[in-house]
Amino acid sequence: MNELKSMTLPELTEALRAMGEPAFRGKQVFTWLHKGIQSYDEMGNVPKGLREKLARTYSFAVPKAARKQVSRLDGTVKYLWELADGNCVESVLMRYRHGNTVCVSTQVGCRMGCAFCASTVAGKVRDLTPAEILDQVLFTQLDSGETVSNIVLMGIGEPLDNLDAVLRFLELVNHPDGLNIGMRHISLSTCGLVPGIRRLGEAGLQLTLSVSLHAPDSETRSQIMPVNRAYDVEELFDACRDYFQKTGRRISFEYAMIDGVNDHDWQADLIAQKLRGMPGHVNLIPLNDVAESPLKPSKRLAVFQKRLESHGLTATVRRSLGGDIDASCGQLRRKAMEEAQKGEDSQ
Ligand code: SAH
Repeated sequence: MNELKSMTLPELTEALRAMGEPAFRGKQVFTWLHKGIQSYDEMGNVPKGLREKLARTYSFAVPKAARKQVSRLDGTVKYLWELADGNCVESVLMRYRHGNTVCVSTQVGCRMGCAFCASTVAGKVRDLTPAEILDQVLFTQLDSGETVSNIVLMGIGEPLDNLDAVLRFLELVNHPDGLNIGMRHISLSTCGLVPGIRRLGEAGLQLTLSVSLHAPDSETRSQIMPVNRAYDVEELFDACRDYFQKTGRRISFEYAMIDGVNDHDWQADLIAQKLRGMPGHVNLIPLNDVAESPLKPSKRLAVFQKRLESHGLTATVRRSLGGDIDASCGQLRRKAMEEAQKGEDSQ
């Protein structure tokens, strides 16, 4: 059964027209869905007969907040959503002075295998549907009672490994009759799937592309990010350069600082060399300690930042939010999975 909330407005209008409904009905139903209704019964101005017909023809689910943790340090809220099939994904609501940002997941688990990331430890279970990505924004907004102005696709999963659903989600969330969140308020982060970067470039969207670089040399990058063995840094930088040329959008390079692995001065110099002629921004991230990983946080963030700046690059150090609530990607889901496992073991 097709998901009603994954349909675009033209698709919905066409499907309703095929059921003999007037043209305005599509917009009516679309608007209700994007308000975050819990059931068909809430569609007040839609005839009961049609609501029943829709319920018979399309699936319609609402995620359940299985857990919610609020940081005492900065008010960051982390949600663990239980989906219709019992799988769980995380979203994080971050409150900044310039507005509220929600970080959404795009897959249940991840198959990219980055050595430092908690989301990938148990592999990928399945892709999320466009509706399931959208629901994370809708229901975070409804639960918190606060308007969400920015979205980052930086939660569990690799967005470019689920690109069809992600493109559809972007169309939905951007729609004036839906949440109407502008592309310039959306960031998408990728570990570097080159064909996906190229496809996204073709789409010419005005969102911000973040590339998880984490090492400028293939030897180091292949050690910590298996994706580099398929698409190495040279191919990655080529795709980034083309992306900039197509979209005119400056790329943000994410760089989690790992002790003794990617925090050497020569690596800062190499980043500068590779980024020559391409307006980019380097975002240094303090590595979050992941229990399953032997990699440790670097203490050289400030030195590395200065070194990048000495080459004329803009480099920032990401402020860490929600440190007390397992707010980094995949950590809460891992914990819930482990606890469920322990529960089963002790029975
Ligand atoms: N798959 C996408 C988006 C999800 S991860 C990607 O790889 O970009 C979001 C960001 O968190 C990525 O930059 C990722 O490399 C980073 N990340 C993952 N684990 C981390 C950790 N333990 N400490 C710091 N950053 C981490």
